[in-house]
Amino acid sequence: MMREIRSVPFGEVKTQYHSMKSEIDQAIAEVLESGWFVLGKNVEAFEAEFAAYVGARHAIGVGSGTEALHIALLACGVEPGDEVLTVPNTAVPTASAISFANAIPTFVDIDPRSFDMNPAEIEARITPRTRVILPVHLYGQAADMGPIMEIARKHGLRVIEDACQAHGAEYKGRKVGTLGDIACFSFYPSKNLGAYGDGGIITTDDDALAERCWLLRNYGQKVRYYHSIKGFNSRLDELQAAILRVKLRKLDAWNNARRARAALYSQLLLGSEVIPPEEMPYGRHVYHLYVVRSSHRDDLQRFLAENGVGTVIHYPIPVHMQEAYQGLGHKLGDFPIAEAYAREILSLPMYPELPEESITRVAQVIRQYTMRKED
Ligand SMILES: *Cc1c(COP(=O)(O)O)cnc(C)c1O
Repeated sequence: MMREIRSVPFGEVKTQYHSMKSEIDQAIAEVLESGWFVLGKNVEAFEAEFAAYVGARHAIGVGSGTEALHIALLACGVEPGDEVLTVPNTAVPTASAISFANAIPTFVDIDPRSFDMNPAEIEARITPRTRVILPVHLYGQAADMGPIMEIARKHGLRVIEDACQAHGAEYKGRKVGTLGDIACFSFYPSKNLGAYGDGGIITTDDDALAERCWLLRNYGQKVRYYHSIKGFNSRLDELQAAILRVKLRKLDAWNNARRARAALYSQLLLGSEVIPPEEMPYGRHVYHLYVVRSSHRDDLQRFLAENGVGTVIHYPIPVHMQEAYQGLGHKLGDFPIAEAYAREILSLPMYPELPEESITRVAQVIRQYTMRKED
């Protein structure tokens, strides 16, 4: 008999901890016993393991995904007033990092199928001040990196991947984190690979970029107290690295579990009120979020909430319409696809341990809503 589901929370992280409690507790205890908490053997080992996982030469652990982006921008030589091309439908930290590097976020509208940067819109936005293209692998799906790299090479631009939502995602058989010049990941707790606190990492094949990131994250010093460049403090700590070493070994299984849950949702939602997300033929989606679209989004979200189903909108206001970015002088209509999607998108519960009955329940509530609309 099927367990009756009363409510389906949007997310839940405790089940995962309990599934590996002894390993995690032991990793934490070992760090505490070692008495060494910053830049030690766990960070070094995790950097090597993460680099090997994505297939990059270098990985540099840092304090967060936002700081990874900030450091990567500085390492790429971004200077005050330079323009960085990115998308308007991203987590605001993508743009914050650009702003804190004293550069200007310049937006490119998205492809309506992938939700990611539309390569066909890039060239019209390039100016003499453009230095970097910063595509986001949104919701766990790689951006169309082939044409993006081609345009970047043609115009002499650097490419920074925002892979904060896409640990383990692939593009044409290669993992994200190896596709641009440099890539940034976040270990915020709810990401596909999440710490128990903040953390981030930068990956690159470029020795010179790696060296600059490595200096920037630690006061600009190579040898203690000898500072070759002006740096700051953005370090992954030993506790988080020890935890992430345990969790990295499970990432593929968790991503497979997310994919299986996405497939079930899409099957159950066929012919309903909502449009399910699409996996692009060029890649492997890891469903950090499972985002559907509906022309009655707000009403549907209310109905789901009344029936105990938690949902979130990622993101309700595109970056160019945020109060913080009014100075850029944008208006509604500048990026029509991103703006239309901001009104239609809804993220359904999605995490590796999400029970099958919960997915069935969410789909059932959406079907009830669909029937009510048709009456
Ligand atoms: C989470 C996220 C970030 C920021 O990462 P933090 O670790 O929270 O600083 C940046 N970009 C995207 C797309 C994200 O999802």
